[in-house]
Amino acid sequence: MIPLKNASDVNKMKEGGKILHEALKSLENEAVVGMSLLELDRLASDFILKNNAKPSFLGYENFPNSICTSVNSVVVHGIPDEYILKDGDIISIDAGVFYKGFHTDSAITFGIGKIDKKALDLIDTTKKSLNEAIKLVRPGIRLGDISFCIQDYVEKKGFGIVRELVGHGIGHNVHELPQIPNYGKKGSGIELEEGMVLAIEPMVTEGDHHIKMSDDGWGVETKDGKLSAHFEHTVAVVKNGSIILT
Ligand code: MG
Ligand code: MG
Repeated sequence: MIPLKNASDVNKMKEGGKILHEALKSLENEAVVGMSLLELDRLASDFILKNNAKPSFLGYENFPNSICTSVNSVVVHGIPDEYILKDGDIISIDAGVFYKGFHTDSAITFGIGKIDKKALDLIDTTKKSLNEAIKLVRPGIRLGDISFCIQDYVEKKGFGIVRELVGHGIGHNVHELPQIPNYGKKGSGIELEEGMVLAIEPMVTEGDHHIKMSDDGWGVETKDGKLSAHFEHTVAVVKNGSIILT
């Protein structure tokens, strides 16, 4: 059963999504060489609380912080710690905001200082694969159309797409149905309907797409130790297409 949202729900999610978008933008502006992941977490938490919202991830399945900070080979779910950002790192920041009864979820990846061309390509490809998929979103397409679009875009650029982690529906809960794999067949899966709200989130690897758990039991990293990037938007399916809420 996929919970549908009405126009009023979508408007609330749009307000929450705006706070989340601004939080991520300010983190991207603030993150520099020499800053710790815990400082970023504190900035995010302060920003979200100041806007009368709550960080969705804090306490979620006992997650200890407000955001996920995944550096270099860490794909997702990195716990912010004392690690100090250095020149040439890439960092994915994934955050969620709970506002007026609804969650929104979004992630960005960017470089610290000067990053090499391969890292830039990886980030650019991940971002564009998400944008291409979002362009398709409207009532009547199939979930598999989104999955295929992301996989096809990423693999044609020579990068890997993570299989084990998926996008998801979102609303009163951070994770709702449907699950949205980032690989699959065109024309397969359920048909999208007006009122569905989806968190679409390609996780892309520089090398092989296989992953493993980090020692902390939360982080997920590439098996081959190569870089990974992650972008995510919360997107509402509306009558004539879609609205990016984050
Ligand atoms: Mg997320
Ligand atoms: Mg998500």
